Amino acid sequence: MPLPDSTSAGRKVGFVSLGCPKALVDSERILTQLRVEGYDIVQTYDDADVVVVNTCGFIDSAVTESLDAIGEAMAENGKVIVTGCLGKRPEQIREAHPDVLAITGPQDYRSVMNAVYAALPPTHDPFVDLVPRRFEENDIGIKLTPKHYAYLKISEGCNHRCSFCIIPSMRGDLVSRPVDEVLREAEKLAMGGVKELLVISQDTSAYGVDVKYAERTWRGKAYQTRMKALCEGLSELGIWTRLHYVYPYPHVDDIIPLMAERNADGLPKLLPYLDIPFQHASPRVLKLMKRPGAVDKTLERIQRWRDICPDITLRSTFIVGFPGETEAEFEELLDFLDEAQLDRVGAFAYSPVEGAAANALPDPVPEDVKQERLARFMARQAEISEAKLADKVGSVQRCLVDAIDGELAIARSMADAPEIDGLVQIQNGFEAGLKPGDFVDVEIMGSDEHDLYGEVPFDD
Ligand code: SF4
Repeated sequence: MPLPDSTSAGRKVGFVSLGCPKALVDSERILTQLRVEGYDIVQTYDDADVVVVNTCGFIDSAVTESLDAIGEAMAENGKVIVTGCLGKRPEQIREAHPDVLAITGPQDYRSVMNAVYAALPPTHDPFVDLVPRRFEENDIGIKLTPKHYAYLKISEGCNHRCSFCIIPSMRGDLVSRPVDEVLREAEKLAMGGVKELLVISQDTSAYGVDVKYAERTWRGKAYQTRMKALCEGLSELGIWTRLHYVYPYPHVDDIIPLMAERNADGLPKLLPYLDIPFQHASPRVLKLMKRPGAVDKTLERIQRWRDICPDITLRSTFIVGFPGETEAEFEELLDFLDEAQLDRVGAFAYSPVEGAAANALPDPVPEDVKQERLARFMARQAEISEAKLADKVGSVQRCLVDAIDGELAIARSMADAPEIDGLVQIQNGFEAGLKPGDFVDVEIMGSDEHDLYGEVPFDD
C-alpha cells in the first residue's frame, strides 16, 4: 500500500497497513499522530528507523498474512512494532517473531506511540517544542484512501456474539463516537475535497445504543447519537454518504425515506445503498451462528424498502458450509437468493477462526462439500447480478470518477462501493476531460456480470 511521503527531516517510521477498512482507519489515525509529532513517514524498510505493522487477525489466512508481514519487516529492518487485531494474541506473534520490539492491540494508539517513543526517543527542539502540536481546524489528517473518498468510523467494538467471530474479544463491546464529533470530522473531510463518505463500524445500526442515544449539538442544531440522526446530519453536507455493516433491524426502515428524498441538486440525501451482512437464510443455521433469524421478516423488510425506494442497492455477504449446514439448509439459502434478488453478494466457505465458539459445533461440513456449495452459490448469484446490471443498460447513472486509464475513465455509480463492488467504465472519459473526484452523468450502453460500460453524452 503506497503511503504518504514526508519531506521534513526527522526520525523515520515505516508503516505496513493490513486488514479491513476499520483497520485502515486505525492506520490513518496512527500515521496522523506520528506526523503531528514530527516523525517522517518513509516508503522503504531501508529508510526506516523503525517499522509499525498494523495487523489483521480475523481469519486464519489473515493471521498468516500478518505473521508473514511481520517476518518481512523483521528481516528487512529488524526494529518492528506490532499493533492491530493480531496484537490481541501476543503469544502467537512472539512464538513466530520473538524479537519484535512491542505488541499492542487494536485502537490502542497511545501504546503504539509509547512504543515508537521508546524506539526513537523524541528529540528536544526548544523552538518547535514551545509550539503546541495539534491539528488546524480544517486539517483532515493522513488518509490512505484516494482524495475523493474516505472511511468514517462511527464506533468501535460490537455487542453481538456471533459464534464464528472473534471481533468482540479483540475490539471489545460497542463504543460509539459522539455524533457531533463524527459530523465535525465529516464536515472537515467534505471541506478537504472528499466527495464520498463510507460509514463503517462493526454494526452501524447499533450506533448510539451504548450512550443511550445522547444528544449533541452540531451547527447549532441538536442531533441524537443514533443512526437516523447521523444520516440526517451527513445529508446536509451535499456529498455521497454510503452505509456499511447495517443489520436488518426494524429501525433501519426509518432511514430509507432519506434515500428516496432528493436535495436541491436532485441527488439522494443518503445513497440508496445498504451493505447488510445476512450471512445465511436458514433460521437454524442463523441460530447456530447466533444471528437474528427471522428470515421471512427480512424478505418482507426488503420488499418494504424497495416500495419506498425502488432504486435501492442491497449488498450482502454470506457464509456457506457453516458447521452442521445440511444440503436442505443450503438450498434454503439458494431460495433466499432467488427471492431477495440482492444486487451485490460476497460469499465465503466457512473456515474456523482460532478462539471462535463455532469451532466447538458438531458436524463440520467436509471441505470439498463447502467448495462445491460455494461454487453453486456464486453461480446462482452471478445470474441475478448479471440480470440486474443488464436492466440498467439504457439508463443514465450519476457516477463518481476514481481514475483515468488511457481513453477510459474508471468510475462508480451510486450502486458501487469502492473495492468491493463493480465499476462503470466510461469509454470517452479522457475526451470528456474527466478527472478523479468528478461527478458525471453516464449513459449506460453495456453490462456484464460485474461492471457497466457507458459514455458521457456530448451536446451536438
Ligand atoms: S455483528 Fe457478529 S460478525 Fe459482526 S463484529 Fe459483531 S460479533 Fe462479529
